[in-house]
Amino acid sequence: MHDTFDILVIGGGINGAGIVRDASGRNLKVCLVEKNAVGSATSSWSTKLIHGGLRYLENYEFRLVRESLKEREVIKTIASEITTPLPFIIPHQKSLRPKWLIKLGLFLYDNIGGKMTIPKSSTINIKEEIPNILKDEFKVGFQYYDLQVDDRKLVELNVEDAKKKGATIIENRKVIDAKRNKNFWEVILDDDTILKSKVLINAAGPWINDVLSEVIKLSSNKSIRLVKGSHIITKSLYNQKKAFTLQNEDNRIIFVIPYKGEFSLIGTTETEVFSPENPKIDESEVDYLLNSVNKYFIKQISRDDVVSSYSGIRPLIEDFKEASKVTRDYIFDLNEEDSLAPLLNIYGGKLTTYRKLAENVLLTLKNHIRANNKNSWTANQKL
Ligand SMILES: Cc1cc2nc3c(=O)[nH]c(=O)nc-3n(C[C@H](O)[C@H](O)[C@H](O)COP(=O)(O)OP(=O)(O)OC[C@H]3O[C@@H](n4cnc5c(N)ncnc54)[C@H](O)[C@@H]3O)c2cc1C
Repeated sequence: MHDTFDILVIGGGINGAGIVRDASGRNLKVCLVEKNAVGSATSSWSTKLIHGGLRYLENYEFRLVRESLKEREVIKTIASEITTPLPFIIPHQKSLRPKWLIKLGLFLYDNIGGKMTIPKSSTINIKEEIPNILKDEFKVGFQYYDLQVDDRKLVELNVEDAKKKGATIIENRKVIDAKRNKNFWEVILDDDTILKSKVLINAAGPWINDVLSEVIKLSSNKSIRLVKGSHIITKSLYNQKKAFTLQNEDNRIIFVIPYKGEFSLIGTTETEVFSPENPKIDESEVDYLLNSVNKYFIKQISRDDVVSSYSGIRPLIEDFKEASKVTRDYIFDLNEEDSLAPLLNIYGGKLTTYRKLAENVLLTLKNHIRANNKNSWTANQKL
């Protein structure tokens, strides 16, 4: 049996990976347990953007957008090898959002994150700057920048660095039981290994409430909604290194993004599901994505053009709004009942905010663990 860890994290997605990296750099004794390979679930099924979330401004999520824009700048520096700035074009659609609204949104997007090295937004003439891609009716576009990222690699780099700093990383082992004592947890894996830890962190993404009820055997005081998001991949629809942000009549937006040199990545949908297991695209989602593209592009695509697809599950914190309006922010639920060993459940989040989330985890736990090095450090050290 290992000695007692300071922190044991269940779940090797981006959030778990970010937490173990940050904690191990503060000389804490940490362990991460992942039931498959690290980064193999939601964190590799994303749209692969480090973005401020322009559309969250419509939901007045200024705090989240501001934090995300600041993090975009940090991640651009610390993960420069796996991120690329990419221009996004919003073709103007008179009947949907008026020009002044988009311009106001972009003005905020350019400015609320503070000083940026990423280019600012501009208005473009579609016919002159990107001819022969969009239908004739689209004349004016709005261009802004975000970062494209290799999402799975981002997880792996965090885990590798944590390992170098002494973290114990256990892959392909499921946590099946957790017993709570006064000063420590006893965590049991599916090969009967028993691990002890002063603090337990549940970073199981869309499995969070399953881990809580089936493994930790506590009831959750937060309910989540599982919302599937699917992408299709086609051969490149055009040969420019630009992405498109397409507005739909249902108020949602769809991205068309250059992908791996020869493909276009198109997503996403929002479909409520009831299990986080094996998400797969369904036909109505494929049609929704194809229709969105066909409304804008000269090149018309059909199911025959789809070479691949993937889906992921967003564990959104339930607030009884339309899926697109539910916050993408994260929430911590710290359980320190009856002076028993603490449990921290992590709800929600985005790839973009993982580093800040990890820093806030360490801050939240400051009364429970004694870190030798209390200072934040991950913003300045390359992955
Ligand atoms: C369709 C879609 C598109 C997205 N696009 C973006 C984007 O472009 N930019 C962005 O910033 N964010 C995006 N997001 C959000 C982002 O992907 C997620 O917030 C993030 O990946 C969640 O990471 P996580 O660590 O919480 O979860 P996960 O990556 O799912 O990790 C949780 C891990 O816990 C493990 N686990 C579960 N139960 C156990 C157990 N009992 N024992 C051991 N391990 C266990 C699972 O195997 C899993 O690997 C998107 C999300 C979706 C669904």
